[in-house]
Amino acid sequence: AVKLIGLTKSFGANTVVQPLDLEIGRNEFFSILGPSGCGKTTLMRMITGFETPSGGSVELDGTNVDRVPTKSRDLNMLFQSYALFPHLSVYENVAFELRVRRTPKKEIDTRVREALELVRLGAFASRKPAELSGGQRQRVALARAVVGRPAVVLLDEPLGALDQKLRKEMQFELKRMQREVGITFIYVTHDQEEALTMSDRIAVMSEGRVLQVASPTEIYDAPVSRFVATFIGSCN
Ligand code: ATP
Repeated sequence: AVKLIGLTKSFGANTVVQPLDLEIGRNEFFSILGPSGCGKTTLMRMITGFETPSGGSVELDGTNVDRVPTKSRDLNMLFQSYALFPHLSVYENVAFELRVRRTPKKEIDTRVREALELVRLGAFASRKPAELSGGQRQRVALARAVVGRPAVVLLDEPLGALDQKLRKEMQFELKRMQREVGITFIYVTHDQEEALTMSDRIAVMSEGRVLQVASPTEIYDAPVSRFVATFIGSCN
């Protein structure tokens, strides 16, 4: 579904994503795991089109999207900051994109209710973001990211503000969506346990470089370097 060809990004003399070749399959749950500052967010922003690559290109379903603006790419990204519209209700925040796309009213209602159920916020539809906890706001943002059912959903630490129980529930729901709706997830986390349990494959990044791309078992059993082994927790 997603193909990155020699994709790279520098800010001045600082190369934050080294040239990268990567193919992510349709309906794959693909995690990018790495310490803070290693270039994960920058990589995601290049896939969405928010950041112009310094080199290389991005293909979505075989089409080069280098000149395709973000809003015309069949993808959606949930940011760490998950900004919601403060003046709109939870319902309207989730419905926003569908309204812009002139989706029929009835379909909007079905989809928004479904998305809110998914994140266990059905009872909060009429609240404003200011009347929610941080974790609830994060779940609204998650509902908003998937309500349009894009082919690819990029999630940047989407469960960071949640307690353990909700985190497990949301992990389960995301996996269910991957299976039932058929969404390709690109998932940024620095939680190795989360990456190991959720992913079909994991890319381990350090200092702008992808060190290894493999399934959780492969990466756990046969890490290519001491850094990967330590980061993934298979050695101390
Ligand atoms: P975190 O997990 O903390 O969000 P990350 O792995 O997502 O980190 P990035 O946000 O991609 O890391 O940042 C990678 C590097 O690029 C950092 O050193 C950062 O300071 C630098 N960087 C990011 N955006 C810019 C920018 N617009 N101008 C200059 N440097 C930038």
